[in-house]
Amino acid sequence: MDESLTEDDFYSGPLRGIFSKLERQHLIFNVKTMILDGLSVPAELVRDIIVDDRFNVKILSIRKVTNMNQRGLQSVLRYVVRPSASSLPRLKGLYLFGHKDAAATPSSRDTSMSSGRISAGVMSSEGAQIGAEWNARSEVALSAALLGHDQPLEEWWRTRGNVFGPNNTIKDTPSSDWADILLACQGVIAFDAVLCRGPRHDPSQTAPERLLRPAIASIGFGARGCEICGSCPEQPAVFDRDADCYFPLLAPPPLHASTIRSAQRPTLPQSLETPPPLILRCTECVRDRWCQRCNKWWCENCYEEPFSRAKRQHHNSPEDGFQEDSGWIAEAMNSNAGTAVKVYSNLCVESCLVSEMLPVADGMWG
Ligand SMILES: [Zn+2]
Ligand SMILES: [Zn+2]
Ligand SMILES: [Zn+2]
Repeated sequence: MDESLTEDDFYSGPLRGIFSKLERQHLIFNVKTMILDGLSVPAELVRDIIVDDRFNVKILSIRKVTNMNQRGLQSVLRYVVRPSASSLPRLKGLYLFGHKDAAATPSSRDTSMSSGRISAGVMSSEGAQIGAEWNARSEVALSAALLGHDQPLEEWWRTRGNVFGPNNTIKDTPSSDWADILLACQGVIAFDAVLCRGPRHDPSQTAPERLLRPAIASIGFGARGCEICGSCPEQPAVFDRDADCYFPLLAPPPLHASTIRSAQRPTLPQSLETPPPLILRCTECVRDRWCQRCNKWWCENCYEEPFSRAKRQHHNSPEDGFQEDSGWIAEAMNSNAGTAVKVYSNLCVESCLVSEMLPVADGMWG
């Protein structure tokens, strides 16, 4: 091995080789959507793709890549959107947090794609097709015709619960330091995640001691919203009405129209003409307001959390026994509807907590 090789050279070597080949064929500048999911992509390579004039990438997907230093990537992004930059980056959208697409399922955002020529893990663009050497590592594209059924609305609109992990797990939620990067990039580079817009992030609506840091919205409430008002204090985001930064880039990335709008446009089932409103929150905003089992949620306008925060600290100490706890819960449930505790221990008091506690009580007394 050549001793002068740096680590970056080593890990980005295969892709740099492909880029050079495309450059010699005068194709690289035509690549507007670049999908490098699951490949070896060091942060330095991303920097080059964003700042190097050889490239003209508008939408870049680097989900589940290897050899990526997250801090390094954050520095690259901060650098390209720095206020003193003389121009905006060409890059408009970055797919980073989501799962790699299982197959190159054509999206309805790509109405022009029907031949199935384009494979996942391969760069695509208007006109630029990549060499056969990539097909071996790429997944086989499905033709749109094979799908043949109505596509469901995207997870972001449909899911109630964690939008990043399957089965509402939170292990895949982006780390909190990414929220600052999303904020720095707001209006310049869109991501496959959005910031929470809950009132506690807004200094004009929240007392300083209650103010929350920027946070990535990871809990989706669908269009149903709060159990009482059916909405949310910040107002749900409405596609084609509200700012781009309210909407996540949707998977799979659009392969032909490399615009943020096309990447954000949800696939509607035939029964819907316009996308339903979108309500997303961070975990901190919905603490003690959201039932993790049935996903009911009560917003800040409708529910005041009577004493849950104070009680939680008091009651969750190890010396507190079950009986004392259950006594308090019974008390909370019996108080009048307007002030009753709605969520305790991440479960809604009215149904899920009761069903959780009954078997325990049976075991204790039976
Ligand atoms: Zn409400
Ligand atoms: Zn929040
Ligand atoms: Zn529940």
